[in-house]
Amino acid sequence: MSVRRLLPLLAAALAAGPALAEQPAPAKALFGAKAMPAAMAPVSIGSYAKGCLAGAEELPIDGPNWQVMRLSRNRNWGHPMLIAFAEKLAVRASRAAGWPGLLIGDLAQPRGGPMVSGHASHQIGLDMDIWLNPAPSRRLTAKEREDISAVSMLGADKRSVDPKIWTRGHLEVIKAAASDPAVARIFVNPAIKKALCEGAGNDRDWLRVVRPWYGHHYHFHVRLDCPAGSTDCTPQKAPPAGDGCGAELDAWLKPPPKKPAKPSAPKKPAKPKPEITLNDLPAACRQVLAAPDSGTAAPAAFAPAPAAPAVPLPVAAPQAEAIPAEDVPLPVPSPARRS
Ligand SMILES: [Zn+2]
Repeated sequence: MSVRRLLPLLAAALAAGPALAEQPAPAKALFGAKAMPAAMAPVSIGSYAKGCLAGAEELPIDGPNWQVMRLSRNRNWGHPMLIAFAEKLAVRASRAAGWPGLLIGDLAQPRGGPMVSGHASHQIGLDMDIWLNPAPSRRLTAKEREDISAVSMLGADKRSVDPKIWTRGHLEVIKAAASDPAVARIFVNPAIKKALCEGAGNDRDWLRVVRPWYGHHYHFHVRLDCPAGSTDCTPQKAPPAGDGCGAELDAWLKPPPKKPAKPSAPKKPAKPKPEITLNDLPAACRQVLAAPDSGTAAPAAFAPAPAAPAVPLPVAAPQAEAIPAEDVPLPVPSPARRS
């Protein structure tokens, strides 16, 4: 059975669960169950790691210079601005690198929102992952797109790229993306940022938006700015000025502190992060969930969010922990953590 068919069944099972009468369902189950976008005008609602997407457009699974991977996930949806960006970038980047094309990873779910696996962000249709290995010059089968693994760029020391794998083409692809004025940030592993810093030469302005982050050595992550004039989309602060190749990058690349000789007192188990529920998302995301599937109704105009949520809040709603929007520096960064 395809994932698209399974999702509505999963949603029905979740809706019927007795425990959920008291506890709001995690938003990821509600958004993960929607196989089609909302029949609404396109709007990115909320912030990259806490929001949703009205009126999403689908990135075609094949284009002249790209192929979408992991089709079963149904995450090749985005704000029309992201789809147009991806199509344009695929041509420019593959030409710059001399690659047949790009392999495209996750964008967003049909209605955005939190996902059952994989990402804290990618919620408002303005984030996309691009694999770091080039597309082959033939079309991959649907099975190959599930089975083929992405390739890590890291060398054995995990602090630099593997010179047998990393090429000038990789730099050119990331540079092509970073040079587009619509891009707010690009996340790459610190080892990749180092390789970019070393390979950039005198043209360095594009390096500013390329930010070191955990993981991101199998793919890089492109984040667009909020669409111009959008009042529903929460922008992120611009990255610090400069190319980001100095002290900040050094801090990411320095070896982690040595383990203490004596075993320290056992740590208290970490509290599990509370799940994001609908109450944690902008109120307009309820409208997005409730809207008919696109194609079955004329796209409704997006109405301003009502002052009070349509569903009563549970008693003492748990305060959701702030989820890092993939760019919040942590105290002891270590690039070794997996993506
Ligand atoms: Zn990503």
